[in-house]
Amino acid sequence: MLLNKLFKIIHILAIAIIFILIALILWNVATRLVAIDTNKTRTVEHTIDMSYLIDPSGKMDVDNIKKQLSTFIPAKNNEIPFELSKQTYWLRIIVKNHSAEPLALVLYADNNMLDILKVYQANKTITSETNYLSTNLLANNHDISLKVYPHLTFDLPARQNKAFILEIQTQGPPNVPLMVISNNDFTQRVLYAQIFYGAFIGIILLMAMYNLVLFFAIKDTVYLFYIGYLLSSFMVLSGLTGFGHLIFSTEIQALINKYIIFLHYYIVIFLVLFTLFFLRYNQGKNKTYRAGKAIIAILIFCSLLSINLDAILQAKLFFSLQPFTLLFAIFVLLKRINHNYSWSKFYLLSWLPLLIGSSIQPLVLLNYLDYSFFTRNAFLVAIIVELTLMAFALAQRMKRNEQDRIKDIAYHITSGLPRKSNLETFVNQLVLQKDNQFTLLMIKPEHIDKIALYIDDEQVTQLFQHLFQKLSLLFQFNDSVFSLTENNEKLCFINNNAFVIVINDKYQHQTLEELIAAIQKIVSDNFQINHLKLPLSAIIGASSFPEHGIKSHQLINNVIFATNQAELNHQKWALYQQQSSNENAYLLQLTSDLKSALENDNLAIFHQPQIDLRTLRVCSSECLIRWQHPTQGFISPSVFIPVAEDMGLINEITLWVIEKSLQQQLLLASEYGFNHMISINISGKDIASEHFFTRVIDIIENSTIPADKIIFELTESSSITYNEESLELIEKLVDLGITISIDDFGTGYSSMSQISNLPFQELKVDREFVENINDNLKRKIIAEATVKMAKGLGLEVVAEGVNSQQDEDTLRRFGCDIGQGYFYAKPMAIDDYISWLENLDNGRIKQPMQGEFIPAEK
Ligand code: C2E
Ligand code: MG
Ligand code: MG
Repeated sequence: MLLNKLFKIIHILAIAIIFILIALILWNVATRLVAIDTNKTRTVEHTIDMSYLIDPSGKMDVDNIKKQLSTFIPAKNNEIPFELSKQTYWLRIIVKNHSAEPLALVLYADNNMLDILKVYQANKTITSETNYLSTNLLANNHDISLKVYPHLTFDLPARQNKAFILEIQTQGPPNVPLMVISNNDFTQRVLYAQIFYGAFIGIILLMAMYNLVLFFAIKDTVYLFYIGYLLSSFMVLSGLTGFGHLIFSTEIQALINKYIIFLHYYIVIFLVLFTLFFLRYNQGKNKTYRAGKAIIAILIFCSLLSINLDAILQAKLFFSLQPFTLLFAIFVLLKRINHNYSWSKFYLLSWLPLLIGSSIQPLVLLNYLDYSFFTRNAFLVAIIVELTLMAFALAQRMKRNEQDRIKDIAYHITSGLPRKSNLETFVNQLVLQKDNQFTLLMIKPEHIDKIALYIDDEQVTQLFQHLFQKLSLLFQFNDSVFSLTENNEKLCFINNNAFVIVINDKYQHQTLEELIAAIQKIVSDNFQINHLKLPLSAIIGASSFPEHGIKSHQLINNVIFATNQAELNHQKWALYQQQSSNENAYLLQLTSDLKSALENDNLAIFHQPQIDLRTLRVCSSECLIRWQHPTQGFISPSVFIPVAEDMGLINEITLWVIEKSLQQQLLLASEYGFNHMISINISGKDIASEHFFTRVIDIIENSTIPADKIIFELTESSSITYNEESLELIEKLVDLGITISIDDFGTGYSSMSQISNLPFQELKVDREFVENINDNLKRKIIAEATVKMAKGLGLEVVAEGVNSQQDEDTLRRFGCDIGQGYFYAKPMAIDDYISWLENLDNGRIKQPMQGEFIPAEK
């Protein structure tokens, strides 16, 4: 405890010391920088008189100028109207030594981007201003300090004056802050400036290296754009301040100076790219992103265009484009700040120094702001501050990305609900602590899989968010329900449209039944969907540790199984029940019996007619398999077909059914003249086999029934995964002329969009939505929506399970084409079916036209 506290104090102390040290260093550097400027004004021994003449043509030489000295205009405080244009400035400076001591002075021009800087120095005093010595301050290639700080050293005897004439021409920034300072001050100034620039070079290069490493590690392009911005700013500044002379050869520095505006474009281009990627506009690739790309294309185009332009025009074009890019940047930033991007506030802040710094620099260079070392280098300082803030912003973004990644794992993106992974992790931990006893409860809104087919995803999400809130409130103060996430959420949403909670069996203050009753009470409510109120209720499944599984995946699978069982058996809740080993033995026996039934032809085909609801004529019959077991009696296909699917018998069974059905159809057509269509059930497992397909073709070709009289019913179920191969097989069946029908629509998990890639022409609405349709509003809504949707897609719609005249009437009103159900006839053996067909007059169909069966147009 004490040790912990001690470490905490050390921790805080260490942070405090680091901050104090950084502040100390920065303070000292700042005072040194300020000192550079105060040195300039300290000297009082000498004064300067300055006057100027502007030669717009740039054609005058020093001899012309000497004759015009009287026309020079006095310039107080260095105020010369420098302009961004190609003209020659002639400056006359008279330096006066007021002291009784000789002075060692330096004439210093703080602009290294001048094209011409010549100093004509009178050899004697002001009175003999006829004989000037000319020095080109830019001519010396070897003296680096001359390049970075163009200057001239001279002595001024006691109480004497000295006159200079300066010839200045430039296509770059025109302002030339001129100073005459003591030799000592100059040396010091150069020293400080070099330290300052050296530090800048070091910082930029280190940052570039560091971000390159980050780019390779994280593979996020935003780091490359950061480096791009960093290096283009570096190049521009090396030209503007002249520090490039310290690291580049004269030729390279000359190139940088020549293409300084071209480089300016890349600062802006990289900054726009950085902004777009930093704020993740590249992810949505929306309008803003496209606009950004267009702006970048324009900037690149202008940068290339400007290479061939005259330097002054280049600068004018560049600066006139900037308001637009700035407006775009502001728009892009504000748009994000509004939308949950508060983590990007450091980045927003980083624009402040840039805006200040980049406006100080031109103001100084155009002589609107007083020159000082600080204002002269404001852009450089701004870039350092900005880059530092950008680095902070990048770190924040990295942190945010990490949080988002964790959130993606822990929470669903659209709904924000905690995912199954939280549950798995939590149950895994509980399982490891062996003495635990706990129960997983799955809470699933009844019929939600079907309801979900008819409402859009957003409404499903809303429904679950609504339930999540209600249930969370219920469990909030219930200590027996474990918290599953770091945020103390007690429910996880799992893919089967359900929530799972974990109950601590040891601390139950209420029985499981009481808790389940409370959950059901909370869930039963009306949920508003498209002006309809859907009554909700909950189906609950339970599986307990260790009885129903000792691993998390077993427990989760079993709780899902228990819920499905409850739903199938129309129970409100069910505890997981293991399948007994007796049951497995039974299934094996059943398979073996089925095999021999198939071999000995002990299976039968029953026919159930399908009625065209417009004409009330039989348009098709569904062929359904029947098995009379020698000892167990009748076994439903719903029992043995799934077994045959699991045991690999299904292909043989289906082929047998097809063959038998075609034989019987032939009999019906040739002997009795009933030539309606036949519907045959095909399993998803059949469709997966190419071998099956060739056998089907054989059977059809060997019979005289045309393929366009045959309908294949595929069950819409989650167990069938229609991959590309099975899709190809289905296409081939369609090419043969076979009609494909989707059976039991509404009972599977797939939505219309998932099966819409199947080439089917008919849809069979499951009898669950059809039987006694008028008794249940929910059923009616679903049936109506399904029929309308299917008709909208141009499909033939069959209703299974028509049980009454009312059912028929309602379905006809919805637009349903065909009815099938006990109302017309139960499935019948072939002989019974023939009799039924022949006796239609007495049947329920009102206008039977014996012997005349017109197939519905498919
Ligand atoms: P299914 O393809 O949806 O067939 C319709 C089922 O609904 C049949 O049950 C039929 O008797 C029943 N039915 C029709 N109208 C009504 C009604 O008004 N009320 C009620 N309560 N039931 C009605 P069956 O024959 O027991 O078949 C059950 C399922 O077994 C079939 O559902 C089908 O999926 C499967 N099946 C049947 N024969 C075959 C077959 O030859 N091959 C394959 N793969 N599956 C088959
Ligand atoms: Mg069917
Ligand atoms: Mg069906």
